[in-house]
Order: sequence, then C-alpha cells, then structure tokens
Amino acid sequence: MSDVLPVVVAGAGPTGLMLAAELALVDVPVIVVDRLPEPMSAARAFAIHMSSVHMFHQRGLDQFEGARTFMNYNFGFPGVTALDAADLPLVVSQRRVEQVLEERVAALGVRIRYGHELVGLEQDDLGVTVRVRGDGEEYDLRASYLVGCDGGRSTVRKLAEFAFPGTDSTVCGRTGDVEILDERYQGGIGQPIYPTGLAAVIPHPDEPGMWRATAIEFDSDRAGDEVPVTLEEFKAAFLRITGIDLKIGRYGWFTRFGNATRLAERYRDGRVLLAGDAAHIHFPSAGQGLNTGIQDAMNLGWKLAAAVRGWGGDELLDSYHHERWPIGREACVYPQVQTALIHPPQTARPLREFIGALVKFDEVSRYIIERATGLGIRYPMAYGGEPAPEHPLLGYRIPDLPLRTAAGETSVAVLLRDGRGLLIDARGGTASPGFEDWADRLRVVAAEPADGLGGARVLVRPDGHVAYVDVDGTGDERLRTAVTHWFGTVDPSSATPSPAMSVAK
Ligand SMILES: Cc1cc2nc3c(=O)[nH]c(=O)nc-3n(C[C@H](O)[C@H](O)[C@H](O)COP(=O)(O)OP(=O)(O)OC[C@H]3O[C@@H](n4cnc5c(N)ncnc54)[C@H](O)[C@@H]3O)c2cc1C
Repeated sequence: MSDVLPVVVAGAGPTGLMLAAELALVDVPVIVVDRLPEPMSAARAFAIHMSSVHMFHQRGLDQFEGARTFMNYNFGFPGVTALDAADLPLVVSQRRVEQVLEERVAALGVRIRYGHELVGLEQDDLGVTVRVRGDGEEYDLRASYLVGCDGGRSTVRKLAEFAFPGTDSTVCGRTGDVEILDERYQGGIGQPIYPTGLAAVIPHPDEPGMWRATAIEFDSDRAGDEVPVTLEEFKAAFLRITGIDLKIGRYGWFTRFGNATRLAERYRDGRVLLAGDAAHIHFPSAGQGLNTGIQDAMNLGWKLAAAVRGWGGDELLDSYHHERWPIGREACVYPQVQTALIHPPQTARPLREFIGALVKFDEVSRYIIERATGLGIRYPMAYGGEPAPEHPLLGYRIPDLPLRTAAGETSVAVLLRDGRGLLIDARGGTASPGFEDWADRLRVVAAEPADGLGGARVLVRPDGHVAYVDVDGTGDERLRTAVTHWFGTVDPSSATPSPAMSVAK
C-alpha cells in the first residue's frame, strides 16, 4: 500500500468530477476511481438550472453561453410561468457538463483512474482503506477521507452501511436519442401528459438532427434492467402512451429509469461521506439530480479541504450533512408532488385545478420556482447559538455584483475563482485590518459601496454563500466570530492553523 492520500473519490460522474475540481483548486491531492473503462458517451440529464450555472460562473466555468432555455421551470406543475426569464433552466446535456468538468480536473492535474472499481472499504479512527479492482489486479488505497460519488446504486453507501430509506419505483421510463422522420413531430408532440403516462421529444443540444425521446408508463414495473432497451420496445411504449407510431431513422442510446425515491439518513459517517445520487435518488421529472449532486460537491469540497489542511473540525464537516440533507429531501419531495399532480388522473385533475389557481399568485410561483431550481437555497447562519443579523443576502449564494476596488473594476464571481472565502469591505476605505493571518483561505478586498451591498462588510464562503453581513461596519466582534466559525483560528506566532475542533472519526 502506498502513502496516505488526503481524499479518494469513488465515481467520475458530475458529482465526483466537481468534488475533485474543488479539492484540486485548493491544492488538495485527490484520486478519482471509476469503474467504467472511459467516460459514458450518453447523456442522461438535459437540463441545467441557473443555480448551477451561477455556481460554475463563480469558478470561471462559463461554457454554456448560447444554450437554449426551457420554456418553463415546472416540468409538470400546472401554469407556473416565468417570473424572470433569466432564471429559466438551460438545455445543456449531462455529457457537456461532464466534459467541462473533465477538462477542469485535467487542467488542475487530477488523473482519473477509469476501469478501476471500488470493491471494498474499511474505516478506522485515522482513515479509510479502499479496495480497488483495476488493470487485472486488486490493490488498496489508504486515504484520510473517502467520498462515495458512485451513483444511485452506490457501493460505498452499501459497504459503509448507510441507511437509505424510501420507496420503490412505480413507473417504467424509457428514453433515448433518435432521429424523428415524421416532420409533424420534430417540433414536439404537444402536451406531455396522457392517461397512462408521460411522453415528450426535444431536440438534442449536442447532436443536430437528433431528438431526445422519452416515454414513461405509470403503474409499470421497471423490470429487466440488465436487458438493453431495443428500438421496438421503446416504440411500443411510446405508442401505448400517446397513440403515436413514431417513425424513427437513426438511433443511439436507450435506457430505462424509474421513480424510486430514497434519501441517505446521513451524508457522513466518520471519514466516509456520500454526495450526489449516492445520497439521494428520485424521479428525474424536475431536472434536479445532476444539479443537486454538483451543488453537494461545491458545499463539501472546501469543508473537506479544510479538514485535510487542519483548520476545519468536525463541526464544519458535519455542516455538510446539516446543510445538504434538507436540500436532498426537497429534491426527493418535489418530483413526488409533480407525480401526484399528474397521476392517477381522477385525483390529479382536481389537484391540478386547485394548484393551477394558486400558482397565479406570483408569490406562490416564486416559491415553487425557487425550490425547483435551487435558486432559493438559503443556509441558516448562526454563531454561538445566535442567528446572524438578518439581511436579504444572508445564507443565499451571492449574486455576481460588480465591484470597484483600488486595483480596478472586478466582480464578486471573479474574486471567488481561486476557491478561497471572500470578505468584501464595501465601506469605501482600506480593507478591514486583523484578518491577514487567514490569507491562505480568506481574501479580504476593499471596495467602493456597491449596489446590493451598500457600504457593508460581507463575508462569503468559498461556495459562494453569504455567511455574515455587517451592515454598518460596526460589528467587529461578531464578524470575527463568523470568520473563525467558518475558517478556523490561526496562531500568528507559528502561522499554524488550529481548528476550532479536531477532526475525529
Ligand atoms: C432519464 C434521466 C434524465 C435525467 N435528467 C436530468 C436533468 O435534466 N437534470 C438533472 O439535474 N438531472 C437529471 N437526471 C439525473 C442525473 O442524471 C443524475 O442525478 C446524475 O447523473 C448524478 O450524478 P452522480 O455523479 O451523482 O452519479 P452518476 O452520474 O451516476 O455517476 C456515478 C459514477 O460512479 C461510477 N461508479 C459506480 N460504482 C462504482 C464503483 N464501485 N467504483 C468506482 N466507480 C463507480 C459510475 O461508473 C459513474 O461514472 C436524469 C436522470 C435520468 C435517468
């Protein structure tokens, strides 16, 4: 066995790639293993929510410009309309998201071990021994932390015995990439809801002349997962639901999926953590799985890096579970609500009528949109048992506000790109003194008072969430408490980081 690695990540899907990118950004060495011989060429997800696009922007990953937008946010809710078109999800394939992240981790020097499968693990107080099968042999990796980003059937979750309660699937979805020959259906097939299921076709964002066609039957077993979906099986399901005998020319990838809904009881057990589909699975009707996964990774990355570096303790690492588990729960609940609004028709019809009237109120629409898209994610911020002073930005991902500094024009997102936290002192003078010793993890910037900030001091975590707002520049003591809460303490004489609490198993 080689030396102890800081972190091993199982799974190079979007969640594992994002996590590896976040760790490598702040120079934490990471090994990623994936059992596939190479990245999957097919794309499951087709929707990326603007909350993820904003998050990518905060890392300088602006690769989705020009992408079309979906016409609505709701994927099933009746009548929820665009309150703000700039919030609509983009039609971007999962493959494209993965490519962006693959390029990112490669640029940061992370090599992914494709064809290497995690087959065993054992954790103790000091670390995790990970058994890997690859290149015709089995070998062990020893790591301080292991993160299971290995998808809905996560081996890490099973081997580490995380409870994964929930419900089994009651639908059989089939989806694939096809060429539609009948011009009548190339623009879509009309409304997606039918008495026995759902169906839709949308143009493929990466492959001109191809469409993503989907057919989901209610009250149907998702049997035969090991048997590949054939063209005939897909066409027959589409015909049963819609009555349309879709004329298909070329076709590529097909898969089945269901609506099993499960959420890990905990996201952390000592030195083993779960993220993405490994922690939560649900019906993909709201386009949330990929988005929730990469946002899990953004939340976890800097906390894990802090634990490895020694300035983050148990409380910081546990905040990953406390903040992300409720989001995972919402991601599970939302598609269940969507399904109840569609099936069975006799109960769904009156429900749709009722909710259809409610969503005409902007407040209701806004509530639904913020939950469906992740734009409304707000983490509670409290210090020493006291909630932080209320402010409209507090707990939310900070918008990309323009800033004028002594060095020139910049913006919040640009200042967050290096993965450190950010203390914006917008009082228009020099930067707040007293935080220099945190420079390896916290950037302090003096700026002119700015729209959205006024003349406040704003503490932003590395994941872009606002941790504290000192509105009038007088809350020195509480600001310092907030800084040490998220960024540990520093002994200036030795410049050695000392965490508020040590990291135990
Ligand atoms: C039809 C369909 C449509 C969808 N549409 C959307 C959408 O529009 N928007 C959206 O946000 N989400 C959507 N989703 C959900 C989205 O695809 C998933 O949530 C997303 O792939 C989860 O990413 P992940 O990295 O957590 O897991 P995965 O993408 O499943 O990646 C897990 C990786 O782990 C690897 N692995 C597994 N076991 C091991 C092991 N033992 N050792 C090493 N490696 C291992 C796998 O090979 C894989 O590469 C859709 C899903 C489906 C099925």
